[in-house]
Amino acid sequence: MRLPAGQPFSGVVQLVKVVKNFVKVNQYTRPGLKLSGVKGIVMHWTATPGASALNERNYFNSTCIADERHASAHYFVDRSEVQQIIPEDEVACHAHDGNRCYVSFLKPNANTAAIGVEMCVEKDGKIHSETVQNTAELVADLCKRYGLLTDNIVRHYDVTNKNCPAPWVSDSSQLAAFRKKVGTLLGNQTAANTTAATSQSCKSTGTILKKGSSGSSVKALQKRLIAAGFPLPKSGADGSFGNETAQAVMSLQKQAGITADGIYGPATEKALAAVASKKKSSSTSKTSYTLPSGIYKVKSPLMKGTAVREIQEALAALYFYPDKGAKNNGIDGYYGPKTADAVKRFQMMNGLAADGIYGPRTKAKIELLLK
Ligand SMILES: [Zn+2]
Repeated sequence: MRLPAGQPFSGVVQLVKVVKNFVKVNQYTRPGLKLSGVKGIVMHWTATPGASALNERNYFNSTCIADERHASAHYFVDRSEVQQIIPEDEVACHAHDGNRCYVSFLKPNANTAAIGVEMCVEKDGKIHSETVQNTAELVADLCKRYGLLTDNIVRHYDVTNKNCPAPWVSDSSQLAAFRKKVGTLLGNQTAANTTAATSQSCKSTGTILKKGSSGSSVKALQKRLIAAGFPLPKSGADGSFGNETAQAVMSLQKQAGITADGIYGPATEKALAAVASKKKSSSTSKTSYTLPSGIYKVKSPLMKGTAVREIQEALAALYFYPDKGAKNNGIDGYYGPKTADAVKRFQMMNGLAADGIYGPRTKAKIELLLK
C-alpha cells in the first residue's frame, strides 16, 4: 500500500476483526489504573498450546482472578480474530516482572507505558503465520493511532528478559521480520527509519491534516479536540475532517495565538498538547487528595484517624480498596491488615517494595497516579 506524501498516517490499515470483550475491573487482571501514555507495544505469546483468544479472555476474567494471579494483556490474537480484554488507556499486567524495565522509552514501568499484545499458540506449540499476520495488522493500527515507530515494538524479553515470545527469543530475526511487516502495512517504513535516526520524539509525526483528510489520524485528532474542550457536536470523532473540525482547529489556534487557518500541523499539535495538559492539571485540582507524610503501618493498637482515612480514600480512588464490597469499601480510618494489604497490592503493581507499609515512596507514587 502506497500512501500519498504528506499524510503518512492517514487511511485504514486494520483489517483483522477486533472484538471488544473487556474483563471486569479487579485487582489481579484489570486494576483500572490509567496508562501514563502509549510509548510502545510489548509483544508476547500465550505459551498455552491450543487456547484461542476467547479462551484466554475467559481465563483472565475468571480463573486467573480466582487464583489471585497478577497477569493480563490488552489484546489476544489468534488465527481468526482479536479479543481486546482491557481498554487501551488502562494498565494491564504484562511486562513488569521482577520490577524490571530494560527498554529506555518504557521506563520505569512498561505496564504503565505500553500496550500488551499476546499471540495465541497452536496445538503444535507454534505461532501460526495467520496469527502473526493478524497481529501485524492490529499492531500497525496501534502504531498509527499512537504515532509509534516500528522500533517501538519490543518483545517482553527486551523489557524484563522473560523468555517471551519464546520463538522470537530463540530467533530474534522474527522480531525484525514482524517490524518489517508492520512497516509495510503502514507504508511508511522509510519515513519511520529517518525519523528514528534524527529525533527521539515518537509523538511528533509532522503530519498535516486539513479539510478533506480522513482516517484514524483524523479520528484521533477529533478525540483530542473534544477532550481539550473543542466540541464537535455534529460530526463527533467520525474520522473525516470537515467544516466542523476545521472550525474547532481554528478556535484552538485563535486561543493559542497562532495562525488560524484550520489546518492541523506541527504548531497546532503543540498548541493542542499544551491545552490538553493544562486541562488535565486543572481538572485534578478539583478532586485532589491530601496525603499524610510519615510512616503508617499495622501497629498495636491500630493507627487511626483522618490521615489513615486519607490514605484509604486515595487508594480506593485507584481501585485498591481495603475491603471491596464491605461497608464503604473498608474505608474506616483504621490502618489494619486489610489496609496494609491494599497498600501492598498497590506497591506490587507499581514497582515498589511490597511491605504494606505506607511511607514517602508510596505517597509519591499515589500522588503521581492521581495527578
Ligand atoms: Zn510475555
